[in-house]
Order: sequence, then structure tokens, then C-alpha cells
Amino acid sequence: MTVREALSAAAARLKAAGVESAPLEAQLLLAYVLRRDRVWLTVNRDRAVAAADRARFQRMVRQRCIRKPLQQILGETEFYGRRILVDRHVLVPRPETELLVGQVVERWRTRYRTILDIGTGSGCIAVVLAGELPRARITATDISARALAVARNVIVSNPPYIPTASIPGLQPEVAQFEPVTALDGGSDGLLCYRRIAEGIGTRLRPGGLLAVEVGDGQASAVAELARCSLPGAAVETVEDYCGTPRIVLATVPQR
Ligand code: GLN
Repeated sequence: MTVREALSAAAARLKAAGVESAPLEAQLLLAYVLRRDRVWLTVNRDRAVAAADRARFQRMVRQRCIRKPLQQILGETEFYGRRILVDRHVLVPRPETELLVGQVVERWRTRYRTILDIGTGSGCIAVVLAGELPRARITATDISARALAVARNVIVSNPPYIPTASIPGLQPEVAQFEPVTALDGGSDGLLCYRRIAEGIGTRLRPGGLLAVEVGDGQASAVAELARCSLPGAAVETVEDYCGTPRIVLATVPQR
């Protein structure tokens, strides 16, 4: 079986299973198995695929056909130009979250010292911020009152924000394969924001920054929570690539 034959058979199976970018995903899987890139596959499409590689490739295609996320099958993904390891215990880093990280990098001030990443999951936010802001002291943690008890300059979080009842209706990749604890934001999706708001009031330093990612339709409610817990803070929202308000930022006034 040649590269071309392996790819077209896999693309057909993936397409039948409802995978959106079937030809591209077939290429990504075969490239991974062969430790090559997609250009190599195109140039070498008439080469034979060794039996062992073919078997491994077909195993991965079968997993993708039951809609296991591609990133979980590969065990890694790219986030903000870096390789992040993922498995079924953590949320797959999303492009929207790159926006959140970009906002924090853009708003970084030399007077800032510490960053707290609440609900770090794969660690994507903390890892990228550590690379981009070498002078920052970064604490990455799961949500807990103890984490919030420490005074901080910057608090960043992409907490679980899907309303509980909406989870079964998400794409199978998400609903069946991603950890529910990384998704479930309580009955209205806002539970974690409330917990963060309760905790930060007196903890974020003057001039400090709160930056959170929010779900569809949640920006104004989260902005309101930020205003209540950080009186006098300048609150802004930033839209994602679809025009949905996705990031809420609150800057505490300087004393
Ligand atoms: N902070 C991690 C991320 O952005 C995990 C977020 C989560 O599990 N809700 O991917």
C-alpha cells in the first residue's frame, strides 16, 4: 500500500465517521506515524508504507473514527507556537485561549511580578506565559481557596464554563472524550467565575490584572462579577475571531 492509497482509504473512513477535515487529519496521522511532515507525504505519495506503520496508522484512524480528539490520539498539540502534551485528563488547548494569553502578554507591565493561573489543566497558559514573560513568577494550580489567598499582580484563568445541561449536546470529541471537570461550569456555567470573584476582592494588588476566558453569552455577567468584586476596576471585553466577546479583563486602579 502506497502513501497515497493509505491516505485516501483513511480519509474516506474518517469522512464517513463525520470527521470534518478528513483528508487533512488523515495526513496529520500518517505524518505522525512516519515521523515526517505533510510536505514529505505529498512528495512521496507513491512510496510504500511498511506493514508496521500501516497497522499503527490504521489503529489511530479507528480511534479517530470513534471521534476521539486528534490531539489526544497524537498526545500533543500546538498552542501559541509551543508543543503541549495532552491526554484524556486535560482539556485540549483551544485557539480562543491563545487570545487570552496574548492579552496578558500585551498588558504585561514591568511592575508586575507574579501570575496565578487558576485551573491550569494541560498547563498551556502557564507554560506559554513562562516562555513569553521570563521575569514573571508563575503559579499554576487547580481552583482552590488556598491558591487565591496569596496576593497577586496578575490572575489568569480559563475555567470550566459550559452549563451542565449543555454538555451532552457538544460535539462527540468534547462530550465523550474530554474531562467533564474541565468543562462543567455548573447550572449556568458561571460557578467558577463566582468563586474567583469571591476570592480575589482583597487579594489582587492595586494595578493588578484579572484576565479570564468566558463562554458564549457570558461576558456581561462575568464583567459584572468583576466590577462587584474589584470596585473601581476598569473592565473591558475582547472579541474572538468570530466576533463573540471571549475575554474579560479587569485592571484594579493604582492606589
Ligand atoms: N487552563 C487550561 C486551558 O486553558 C484548562 C482549562 C480548563 O480545564 N477549563 O486549556
